[in-house]
Amino acid sequence: MNYDSKNMKFYEKGGVAYLTFLEFEKYGFVRHAFSTRIGGVSKKEFASMNLNFGRGDSDEDVTENFHRFCSAAGFDYTTLVASAQDHGTFIRRVGARNRGTGIWKPKDIQSVDGLITDEADVTLVTFYADCVPLFFLDPARRAIGLAHAGWRGTVAGIGAKMVKAMGREFGSSPRDLVAAVGPSIGPECFEVDTPVYEEFSKLTELNPQEFIVNNGGGKYHIDLWEANRRILMHAGIPQEQISVAGLCTRCNAQWLWSHRATGGKRGGLAAMMCLTEGRA
Ligand SMILES: [Zn+2]
Repeated sequence: MNYDSKNMKFYEKGGVAYLTFLEFEKYGFVRHAFSTRIGGVSKKEFASMNLNFGRGDSDEDVTENFHRFCSAAGFDYTTLVASAQDHGTFIRRVGARNRGTGIWKPKDIQSVDGLITDEADVTLVTFYADCVPLFFLDPARRAIGLAHAGWRGTVAGIGAKMVKAMGREFGSSPRDLVAAVGPSIGPECFEVDTPVYEEFSKLTELNPQEFIVNNGGGKYHIDLWEANRRILMHAGIPQEQISVAGLCTRCNAQWLWSHRATGGKRGGLAAMMCLTEGRA
């Protein structure tokens, strides 16, 4: 197994393994983590830390996994608020009233790929297995966000839409934002056909030749990490404030969930983020 990432730190507590971004650890008022497959109770193709309901695993095991993950990584289970991902770009502002949604209360909206909040003790939760997790922190306004950027969300600019949403809702300036691109399918592993290539090649303002490789024969490789990094920079976040994990889920499928590596028979990873103190 390869746990190395220059921008992320690997932790193991009580048998539960998770990753955090070094850049976010500098701030005492925010907690965040990205899960792994290690330390849960799920069995068979979901073994062992599956944090996705609704993929065929038992709800009881997934619930126990959430409890174990929260206690290892320092989150309060009762404060979790989940997304409802469908590869769209809808961003939902959530607060204390939404606690439990998609975890211990049914989801109440069908399409939510981004979550933002400026309330303390509201833990944002989003799900992954190759798609790109985007983390946002505004240390000045004390606000946070998480977004799910698959290739569709990436092309549709959900990263830039998060920056706009935080500006509109919290008065966040892009110059103040700290952002991160989490573990997901890497540039060597994400091969696509012409229709997907064509969508990415339309992003002319971002110099798409910097994140598309043409292999010939109608096959292309796309670097979703670099595409998202450029989208965030184009939205005004200074490049030195953007961390990229550089960890490929498909290459590390023994300890991270990868949709492509498992042919879809899999559990899911979660990103979590929570303000521990609100604005002074
Ligand atoms: Zn890979």
